[in-house]
Amino acid sequence: MSSTLRKEYLAAMGLETWSLRGPAAAASEPVAAPLNESAPAVAAVPREAARRDEVAPGDAAAPREAAPREAAYDWPQLRERVAACTRCGLCATRTQTVFGVGNLQAEWLVVGEAPGAEEDRQGEPFVGRAGQLLNAMLRAIGLKREQVYIANVLKCRPPHNRDPVPAETMECLPFLDRQIALLKPRIMLVVGRIAAQNLLRTDATLGSLRQRVHRFGASDVPLVVTYHPAYLLRSPAEKRKAWEDLKFAREVFARG
Ligand code: SF4
Repeated sequence: MSSTLRKEYLAAMGLETWSLRGPAAAASEPVAAPLNESAPAVAAVPREAARRDEVAPGDAAAPREAAPREAAYDWPQLRERVAACTRCGLCATRTQTVFGVGNLQAEWLVVGEAPGAEEDRQGEPFVGRAGQLLNAMLRAIGLKREQVYIANVLKCRPPHNRDPVPAETMECLPFLDRQIALLKPRIMLVVGRIAAQNLLRTDATLGSLRQRVHRFGASDVPLVVTYHPAYLLRSPAEKRKAWEDLKFAREVFARG
């Protein structure tokens, strides 16, 4: 991707780029800095020095097999099953289920927490402002929305966008597990604390989960964590970190 195009995409994320002066500049990629940020710009840290690319013992998410009834479903059967699901109380308040969207041959799987109000209305994950920002984030690393698959941990909207309760995620996760088994992604980009904690089965903070390669499932899919676009809209100062995470995910993917 040309640097001009990348700058356009970063601008769409609400970021502008700046480069180091002096000899280090040649070895460093442009670094994104938030627009309209009152905090002083931080010193650029060499990418390799900033990266933590290790998996702590016990960090890999153990394979969580889809329940037997899901394990045999193909895509149409799974979509049908989700649409009719009444396993948890969220079925009573949803407008419709939000199954997931994207390329069924995608190498990238993006996973968020749960549908919001707009997603509940449209039946598609990551629409509205958060969806536009996610699209910009993907474009910033050279991906079109149509090239990836996007899903949520929960397929129904929690009322007033509250956090999911454990019983809801427990009932709903087998659907996502089956989506992952069918898709066989080469990398998972997990956005937001709730999705990351549920997929990695941890209470660790999002900050401690970023910039590391986690592994998911029996096929050891690399999993990288970053901020949820909705959070970034509320906290634009964190966009710089999200950009670092996206670059990190792109490197992990490129390394295979
Ligand atoms: S959130 Fe998941 S488990 Fe609950 S009703 Fe919706 S599809 Fe079923």
